[in-house]
Amino acid sequence: MKEYVVLSGKGGTGKTSITASFATLDQNQIVVDCDVDAANLHLLLSPNVESEHVFISGHTAVIDPEKCSQCGLCIDYCRFDAIHYDHTGRVIISEISCDGCRLCERVCPKQAIYAVPSDKSRWYISNYRNGKLIHARIAPGEENSGKLVRIIRQAAQEEAKTQNQDTLILDGPPGTGCPVISSLSGVHACLIVTEASVSGLHDLKRILELTKQYGVRTQVVINKFDLNVEITAKIEAYCETVQVPVIGTLAFDSNFVEAMIACKSVCEWAPESDSCKQIKEIYSKFIAS
Ligand code: SF4
Ligand code: SF4
Repeated sequence: MKEYVVLSGKGGTGKTSITASFATLDQNQIVVDCDVDAANLHLLLSPNVESEHVFISGHTAVIDPEKCSQCGLCIDYCRFDAIHYDHTGRVIISEISCDGCRLCERVCPKQAIYAVPSDKSRWYISNYRNGKLIHARIAPGEENSGKLVRIIRQAAQEEAKTQNQDTLILDGPPGTGCPVISSLSGVHACLIVTEASVSGLHDLKRILELTKQYGVRTQVVINKFDLNVEITAKIEAYCETVQVPVIGTLAFDSNFVEAMIACKSVCEWAPESDSCKQIKEIYSKFIAS
């Protein structure tokens, strides 16, 4: 089984639009939205949920008001500023701010604090018009998105075995953090979508350092290259220096926005457009890598 991840050093480069086109070009694959902190591939693929699963992201502290003496010790110890007195003098914990470290539980002299599993996050196996989509939604304030990425990749691998598929397309998160590393580890190849901007070049360098560290075969696409041809030339020169091939350059195209508004991929919305033709070529090169 081969897993292909699409990444971008930064948000807003067009990564998900390009991945959505990949997802609608080929039926012989399972698609996974690994951007669990801000999942949006489902908005373009409009899937029907087949099964929903709970993700326990950690723990949240809870105070038993019957036992609490309002001594305030837990407030002093909480490094996340999650515990406060309310207007009645009662001690309360903010579910959103609590990191689940459980220190307050240990220091409370009245054993008034206990931890409950954080169970508001979900992951899904769904069907979209071209096949299976595995995706997730991490609840606000909940953590461990790297672990959630690992879980949905495993679910996708099992689903692929069941369906005799041997290709997974992963829409990775932006940036270089924990969920990106979780999306990148063990994949067959990586495609980085960057854009012709100063921040695009800056963040491309960071993500290329990461893919190099993980020894992942990497290729680059420059989106909206015509918005700043000087930066595009710098990106191409940098990629040449670090020996990473640029396998496509896409011009700014309003079809990207129009397709998004219509909840379609670019190749569904404008199949005869230059953008779609180029995305098809990029996909062929990526899958052949
Ligand atoms: S340390 Fe325990 S008893 Fe003191 S305020 Fe916190 S919960 Fe209440
Ligand atoms: S578990 Fe940690 S973060 Fe949460 S309230 Fe207690 S000390 Fe603060």
